[in-house]
Amino acid sequence: MEQEMQRKKKKSICPYCGGMNTRKNGHTRKGTQQYLCRNSKCGKAFADEKKRTISPRTRKAILSLLRAGRTVRDIHTMFEKECSMSYIYKLQNKCSATLSPFNMGD
Ligand SMILES: [Zn+2]
Repeated sequence: MEQEMQRKKKKSICPYCGGMNTRKNGHTRKGTQQYLCRNSKCGKAFADEKKRTISPRTRKAILSLLRAGRTVRDIHTMFEKECSMSYIYKLQNKCSATLSPFNMGD
């Protein structure tokens, strides 16, 4: 049981709501661990990105493409090897959070 406890410490944080109440949700075809957010208001699935390191250059490029109105799918095609779709979504959320006039609050 101790091993189980240690594993639980490594739990992923939901990129959509920042919640830590997540559970494993199988793997993608590429073998990436997937998680499911257990926040009732969120409930989104996302992939574990801990193994990937995205360079600041890539991040900047993605951000400018998002601001230029490119879709997440489009951008993911360009940066497939560098980052996951959920990472781009995360950046998109950040973008719209700062640009949006609607502040949802908590
Ligand atoms: Zn969530």
